[in-house]
Amino acid sequence: MNFSALALHPTLLANLHDQGFEQPTPIQARAIPIALEGRNLVGLAQTGTGKTAAFVLPILHHLIGGPRGLTRALIVTPTRELAEQVNATVRSLGRGTGLRSAAIYGGVGMDAQERALRAGVEIIVACPGRLLDHMARGVARLGTVELLVLDEADRMLDMGFLPSIQRILAALPPRRQSMLFSATLAPELRDLVATAAPQALTVQVGEVRPAHTIAHALYPVPTHHKTGLLLELLRRADSGSVLVFTRTKHRANRLLQQIARAGHSAAALHSNRSQNQRQLAMDGFRAGRIRVLVATDIAARGIDVDRISHVINYDVPDTPDAYIHRIGRTGRAERNGEAFTLVTPEDAQQVRAIERAVGSTLERRKVEGFDYDAPAPARPGSEFDRPPREQGAQRHSRREPRPAGQAHHHEARSGQRAEQRPGSQRPGGRLEPHGPERRGDAPRPPRRQERPERRSA
Ligand code: AMP
Repeated sequence: MNFSALALHPTLLANLHDQGFEQPTPIQARAIPIALEGRNLVGLAQTGTGKTAAFVLPILHHLIGGPRGLTRALIVTPTRELAEQVNATVRSLGRGTGLRSAAIYGGVGMDAQERALRAGVEIIVACPGRLLDHMARGVARLGTVELLVLDEADRMLDMGFLPSIQRILAALPPRRQSMLFSATLAPELRDLVATAAPQALTVQVGEVRPAHTIAHALYPVPTHHKTGLLLELLRRADSGSVLVFTRTKHRANRLLQQIARAGHSAAALHSNRSQNQRQLAMDGFRAGRIRVLVATDIAARGIDVDRISHVINYDVPDTPDAYIHRIGRTGRAERNGEAFTLVTPEDAQQVRAIERAVGSTLERRKVEGFDYDAPAPARPGSEFDRPPREQGAQRHSRREPRPAGQAHHHEARSGQRAEQRPGSQRPGGRLEPHGPERRGDAPRPPRRQERPERRSA
């Protein structure tokens, strides 16, 4: 099937052609015709399937001929990175249409966003919290919205955004077209679909399984050799960009230091970094100046960097769902990618759950020449490699005061434990900031077995 079969506006077809997109992906082929009919839609598709264009193209098509200066489409996303990326897609696919858009999210000043909104935009791409701020000030006016998209709706619920979404929904005209995209359709989501997108048609692609372009493997390793093995894998994977996942932002920082010390260009992406730092990290990674990006789950949501050749899970993800999302960062758009997961004996249960979800036993690999039997390294900064029991034995040290941001060799161990409790006091006496936008949307306590890190990455 070719895009021209989808009866999209010629400007959009030309833009698709310019970007080298000739054939719709399965989610695009199935969702776009329904969306063009004006029907409500639920798209079950994970990142990497082309889902963004599946809703952006119908929106642009619908708006091209209509009035300007009014907000006619609203796309709500869980994170600022995703808002930026969706907005970038709106801009690239909407080139030459004269349609204007703004990305609205917290963690940056209000003024530039306010100016953009006051100047008039037809499309708003927003995170819930900051959008509510602009609504409260009367700057974002949603009374003329004709199309709504809730993108990565499952993540938004996970992150506690339901009350914010409900407030946004209440401000929208009831007569509108609504599309909801999600990797999974959890029971809580069905209620949201019933209110936000009644009588929606559901389109599902490629069930929730990793893309066939991803080769995955597990690397069993004693806990104290995780960092050494990671550095060895980085050394051997000598081409392409590498995304490394850690369970907490604190571990991301510690690991970043060690990766940088080994001579790799690297950066960290998590919510303790300023918007500017995150942007610089993303830009550098996208441009290839930064080869290794160390990230936590939420910060990495929706990262759309085509050249990621390897995803390495330094820490096993909490849930199979998180595993699939993480490794979906590689092998995108039919490129080949490899996903490696370091597993320690303590991870056995999570590994079993992941294998059940992906429907196969994952290959176990050993790195030839790596000394698995070497004694535990005693270098400073390697403490968070130690087995949990040893960490527990040192727990009394958590209360030691130290200047904020200073890398004390106990901090990784104690910080890691502190971050496993919601709102827990960090070693420096500070409270962890919550939520992807670090603002008034206090997310509710985590569901299932989630660690708070997944909300405050
Ligand atoms: P998404 O799932 O929206 O994050 O998109 C994943 C990747 O697929 C992005 O890099 C897109 O640029 C790319 N993409 C989207 N649609 C197509 C298409 N029809 N053909 C090839 N690549 C595409």
